[in-house]
Order: sequence, then C-alpha cells, then structure tokens
Amino acid sequence: VSFETLGLHSRILNALKNSGYTRPTPIQAMAIPHAMNGRDLLLSAQTGSGKTAAFVLPVLNRLANPVKPAADKENFSQKSHNRYQKPMIKALILTPTRELALQVQDNVRGYGSGLKGVFSVPLVGGAPYGGQIRALRKGVQIVIATPGRLIDHLNEGRVDLSELDTLILDEADRMLDMGFADDIRAIVDAAPSARQTIMSSATWDGAVGKIAESFTVNPERVSI
Ligand code: AMP
Repeated sequence: VSFETLGLHSRILNALKNSGYTRPTPIQAMAIPHAMNGRDLLLSAQTGSGKTAAFVLPVLNRLANPVKPAADKENFSQKSHNRYQKPMIKALILTPTRELALQVQDNVRGYGSGLKGVFSVPLVGGAPYGGQIRALRKGVQIVIATPGRLIDHLNEGRVDLSELDTLILDEADRMLDMGFADDIRAIVDAAPSARQTIMSSATWDGAVGKIAESFTVNPERVSI
C-alpha cells in the first residue's frame, strides 16, 4: 500500500513527501480507507505507530476535496456577488492534554501545508484566550481542543458545532481517567448526531467501552 493508492489529494501527497514519509504505517494502511469511507472507527495503537496521521489525513483529504453544492440559483447569485463565506467547523479533535493537542496541531499544519483556505486552531487550557477567540471569529474548519477549554468557548457561544461532520476523541481512555467524562458528553451533545466518530484508546474495557458504544455507530475496529 502507498499513500497514492489510498487516494489522498496530490497536495497532501506532496506534504507527506516533504515530511520524508515513504509509505503508510500499518495503522494508517488499515484505518485510512475506512475513515475516508466515512466509517466510525475504534483505533487501538500506541504513540509512535503513526495513529495521528491515520485520523488527520482523512480529515484534510475531505477538506481538500469539498463536495460542491448543486449549482442552483441561490449558489449562483452568491458566487456572482463573490460573497465571503466564513469557514465552519467540520472536524473536532479532542485530546487529554495541551501537549498532545499542540502535537496534533503540528501534524494538521504539516500535512495540510499545501491546502489553501483550510484553517485550524488549538483550543487548549493554560493558553491566552485572545488568539483563540480571533481564530474562531475568522473561522476554522478544524479545531483541536482539550475538553475544558472547549467547554468554555461553547458556553460563551464562540464555537458552533452545527456543521461538524467528524468528531475524533484521541486517547479517550486517558480523557476519562483525567475526569473529562461529563465535559466530553456535553461536547458530543453539542455536535450533530449524524457525524463520523473516530476514537483511539489503549483499551475498550470498562467506561471507555461504554462511551465508545454510545458515541459510535457500527464502528470498524482497527488495532495493531
Ligand atoms: P504518532 O504515533 O502519530 O505520534 O506518530 C509518531 C511519529 O511517526 C511522528 O513523529 C510522525 O511524524 C511519524 N510518522 C507518522 N506517519 C509516518 C509515516 N507514514 N512514515 C514515517 N513517519 C511517520
């Protein structure tokens, strides 16, 4: 399997080449086709396996190949007025820690470096609100967040998840261990129920298994 045969956009393939990646890791080869097909996924893989790219690349690929709306009258008139449409949040990646969120953000920026008009912001605790609020005002398609800070922004009405199509819970078991269960439930309640959900966890026993069952529909399990 190669990144080309996975069907990724040429600008993403270029970014991967620039990162020095020659081929997908096993978790990427197994997970990316399901993710690109819109399936819910339960990933079990260690850090270092390349699991971040396994969920980030399909998100970027969807944003690189936007579904064009039918060319009806309304769209035509919008186009002729060249009206700027603020990007809506399409993908949300939740992580247990600020450090992990910033690592994921680095991946998003790196693999997405060739994509114009795709914006992301990390919403993490311990960081100033100003930059986060400015990025949300301008609009982003990808949010990478720790649960507490995202809840703050949701409660202040700064985050709109109504157009979300992909929800990713990275290291879900650690998020539960850190006491984020209620925050995560509140966030999922603010997201559309028609969405793709991808979770990663070292285990699916106990509480994390229950949450996985309630947040996903007919998930594909990928473990290495
Ligand atoms: P992760 O497991 O997502 O934390 O990734 C571990 C490391 O592997 C990161 O430094 C990635 O940049 C790198 N990596 C991810 N995918 C690949 C790949 N296909 N080829 C080479 N390195 C990769």
